[in-house]
Amino acid sequence: MLNEYIIPVAVFAVTGLTSGVLLTAASKIFEVKTDERTEKISEILPQANCGSCGYAGCADYADAIISKGEKTNLCRPGGTETAKKISEITGSDAGEVTETYAAVLCRGDCSAADTKYVFAGIHSCASVKRYYAGNSTCAYGCAGYGDCAAVCGYNAVSIENSVAHIDPELCRGCGSCAKVCPKGLIALIPRSKGYTVLCSSRDNGKATKLACKNGCIGCRMCEKACKHEAVTVTDFHASIDPSKCTGCGSCAEKCPVGAIRKINCTE
Ligand code: SF4
Ligand code: SF4
Repeated sequence: MLNEYIIPVAVFAVTGLTSGVLLTAASKIFEVKTDERTEKISEILPQANCGSCGYAGCADYADAIISKGEKTNLCRPGGTETAKKISEITGSDAGEVTETYAAVLCRGDCSAADTKYVFAGIHSCASVKRYYAGNSTCAYGCAGYGDCAAVCGYNAVSIENSVAHIDPELCRGCGSCAKVCPKGLIALIPRSKGYTVLCSSRDNGKATKLACKNGCIGCRMCEKACKHEAVTVTDFHASIDPSKCTGCGSCAEKCPVGAIRKINCTE
């Protein structure tokens, strides 16, 4: 009778003890040594996990800096200050981080473009785009359902009159919004340059005018006005090379539809 209790308890005790010893030994033998600098760098990074550095997240980037000698200035949300702090740990040169912020290349709000149909499907830009490229009269324009706002970890995106706007003061340039915009309307542009073409239409002038009052009609007046060869018009669409733009504003002054704007400060 006594054995019915003592033997199972003894078996459990011996099995438990043996397992404990084996697990402790295994944890020592297979222990993966982590460089404490990796953790320190991970703590410095902004934990946006946006992938702007080219790695899956902040922890992966921190690991790559130590294990592969990756550059320390790849984190856009962290900026130059973060790069400097990381370099203090690694003892390498920091380098500059080009500060960029995201901008929505569209001004086709309710006052400029009309609605083609009433959309009653899932409230998302990706969803509405499946039906005739969206319900705005401009097939290139912002759908305004805020897929970009939903992913921004810094509350920088808002929808105003059916078009997304990005507050440059809040934007950290991580590019998460640009990745999800199904219309490809969000560009990352340098902070130092002011003028950007806020339209993405590739239709000819007549069609663009019918679709949106604020659309670029490809008239080339901006191209002719720019003394620095920063503006080019192709496919009825103007674009500005930020490396050539001096911020003089001649293009914006000449644009008959106001498609060119200075947007590196809050409008
Ligand atoms: S607006 Fe876009 S780029 Fe700027 S912080 Fe938000 S998600 Fe990142
Ligand atoms: S910018 Fe793109 S993702 Fe954002 S509301 Fe407009 S269409 Fe949607």
